[in-house]
Amino acid sequence: MSVAVGSLFTFDNSYARELGALCEPWQAAPAPAPRLLALNEELAAELGVDAEALRAPEGVAVLVGNATPEGASPVAQAYAGHQFGGYVPRLGDGRALLLGEVLDVHGRRRDLHFKGSGRTPFARGGDGKAPVGPMLREYVVGEAMHALGVPTTRALAVVATGEQVVRETMLPGAVLTRVASSHVRVGTFQYAAARQDPALVRRLADHVIARHHPDAAEAENPYLALYESVVDAQASLIARWMLVGFVHGVMNTDNMTISGETIDYGPCAFMDAFDPATVFSSIDHGGRYAYGNQPGIAQWNLARLAETLLPLIHADTDAAVEAATEVLSSFADRYGRYRSDGMRAKLGIPGTDEEDGSLIEDLLALLKAQRVDFTSFFRALSSSLRGDAAPARALFAEPDAFDAWSGRWRARLASRAADPRETAEAMDRVNPVYVPRNHLVDEALAAATAGDMEPFHRLLDVLARPFEVRPGLESYALPAPPSFGTYRTFCGT
Ligand code: AMP
Ligand code: MG
Repeated sequence: MSVAVGSLFTFDNSYARELGALCEPWQAAPAPAPRLLALNEELAAELGVDAEALRAPEGVAVLVGNATPEGASPVAQAYAGHQFGGYVPRLGDGRALLLGEVLDVHGRRRDLHFKGSGRTPFARGGDGKAPVGPMLREYVVGEAMHALGVPTTRALAVVATGEQVVRETMLPGAVLTRVASSHVRVGTFQYAAARQDPALVRRLADHVIARHHPDAAEAENPYLALYESVVDAQASLIARWMLVGFVHGVMNTDNMTISGETIDYGPCAFMDAFDPATVFSSIDHGGRYAYGNQPGIAQWNLARLAETLLPLIHADTDAAVEAATEVLSSFADRYGRYRSDGMRAKLGIPGTDEEDGSLIEDLLALLKAQRVDFTSFFRALSSSLRGDAAPARALFAEPDAFDAWSGRWRARLASRAADPRETAEAMDRVNPVYVPRNHLVDEALAAATAGDMEPFHRLLDVLARPFEVRPGLESYALPAPPSFGTYRTFCGT
């Protein structure tokens, strides 16, 4: 089938048009022998593009950056960022390009973005390339997050370039096509603010208000309302991460979106045994981005965002600081509410009660003390409501402590006299059976790197319906065997 490259997407590139000072027109590096490894047909349909057309050689040429479709205006976006707390004034997409924006079938504006498409003016010492493994990792973890109901950027496709990439070993290279509601980051605001051009920050703020937080436009102080909206979106997002045991691993300000979508799946991983100190990234020596630190880090990043918005919030700096600080201080409450609502749902607890806080914290202390698998626990708990307490008790080395907690929990459930079976069903609708377990992701990516895509596609299929027990998939629900050892992930992939 022959496909006119120009007919694949209908672009409307507001970022390149309105914010030229924050990006550089650029072209992807040619890929010698592109081969489509994975295509997200569901997402293609949402974008209103025919998956068959994307699978055809002309479509693959577009997805790897070899053909620029009509209407695209590829740019490398500039940003700054605090990386592990240290400020870097000029980062930007060193190996990524914003191809353009499309309106999806629901009328939502979505970025189409390449990662691994060659060096850009922001590449610094990097090669601009990406290996197949990390790009497929972004694909599979992003899809898992999406299926879990966590706001996220998503992968449309991964195309092998046919070129080898030099890392510790030679690895096959790939380009990821990422779809996001935008790629504006806290670091984008930091970069704009550092230009000493207040009109530029205002243009950026107006752009994101229109795009992500339109209600703010109606507020008495639109920029303060924008800030509040971002604070709330991030409080909600981080709570969702915490509720599924997700560790992002590199929460630098350049990896935090203004939209409230999870972005940049580098050294991220899901926690097996519950422990707030969990860190996977090999470079996170101090545990700055440990599981339990994520809410505090998000708030720290949001303070960096506030600093960029102060001149827009109020002409008087003291007044601006006061107003922004009040909003920033609301993060803890907002996060706390999202998280306790989420925990109550996980535990099937109806309404609210003063004692719920201690019931939740005591449980988490127990899970930590006995190193209980976070994901398995909540499904085992709902089974106990159906009359089978054995799976839950089996997760504890000393089940007596669990029995005592469970007695309190059941008394709390009984206080509202809900049917236990219905409660168990409600719990199962929010507690996943399947999350991207580290050993399974590793296994799928190792196979893919060696040329076998079958385990990857199987894992993707499992993770697409995380709440539904499917016969034959028992092994996908289990934590890594002890032989898997301590899991380490790597940045700069
Ligand atoms: P990340 O840790 O993936 O968020 O990347 C941090 C920064 O390094 C971003 O500005 C990236 O664009 C840049 N970067 C990461 N890997 C490469 C690479 N291989 N070549 C060029 N730039 C890169
Ligand atoms: Mg990044």
